Amino acid sequence: MPQNQTPPVFRFAPSPNGHLHLGHAYSALLNEKNARDAGGKLLLRIEDVDRQRSRLEYETAILEDLNWLGIKFDEPPRRQSDHLSLYQSALDFLLERGFAYRSTISRSQITALADTQADWPRDPDGAALPPVSERNLKSVDGPHAIRLNIEAALAACGASVGWTETGHFVNIDPSKWGDVILKSRDGSFAYHLAVVVDDAAQNISNIVRGRDLYQATAIHSVLQNLLGFAKPVYRHHDLILDDTGEKLGKSRNSKTLQSLKKDGFTALQLRKQLGF
Ligand code: GLU
Repeated sequence: MPQNQTPPVFRFAPSPNGHLHLGHAYSALLNEKNARDAGGKLLLRIEDVDRQRSRLEYETAILEDLNWLGIKFDEPPRRQSDHLSLYQSALDFLLERGFAYRSTISRSQITALADTQADWPRDPDGAALPPVSERNLKSVDGPHAIRLNIEAALAACGASVGWTETGHFVNIDPSKWGDVILKSRDGSFAYHLAVVVDDAAQNISNIVRGRDLYQATAIHSVLQNLLGFAKPVYRHHDLILDDTGEKLGKSRNSKTLQSLKKDGFTALQLRKQLGF
């Protein structure tokens, strides 16, 4: 690394809504390798903004597993639930400037509306988008979510929206995600908002994470533009697949690090198996 240049900062950011499996281990080890090779720092962030799904017992298990893997982080872990006021400030900033709005329609109401029309617009994951009429609600008292007004956002960002993916610029149209939720009806801040605020707050310069988040980076890029944040460089790595070619996930019965440990695997064997 040239002198006078600040060292790069990497992070591993698991959500405590399940146990870590091989895919997480791969991502954490790749971050570790990239950070060490670059003479940089490696941080750990516990992404627990989702109130419904986050559990302290999973957080404890994640810390144990990472310790077992022998990964050393350069700072104590940052927990998103300790920084809710930061997300609220970012949200207020977007609301005040007309980039976000209060939306009363529920997920089931959107689904019901979408069922009435064959060509209802959907996001890349297949979820029906909310009707744009939600943007113009006059007064909102009852339960509501806060959504990004992607049209207003893109009008303000212009052509500069996009991100650097290991050496090349990616410019995917973020509007295909529609008006994403920034804060849900239950009061949880959305991943998209929290991740962008945290990456900026922790001065993350390099994001190494799974390919499943590649498309969503278009939204992160818009939020970074609107909030005036520096953009990290991204590397979306391939996902580890199970024997049937399916992505390893918490919902399917893929082996957790805890069960591999119980089966007698050592951390060294696991590192080797994953190519580290
Ligand atoms: N918390 C996310 C997850 O566990 C990862 C977020 C990220 O790396 O940006 O899938």
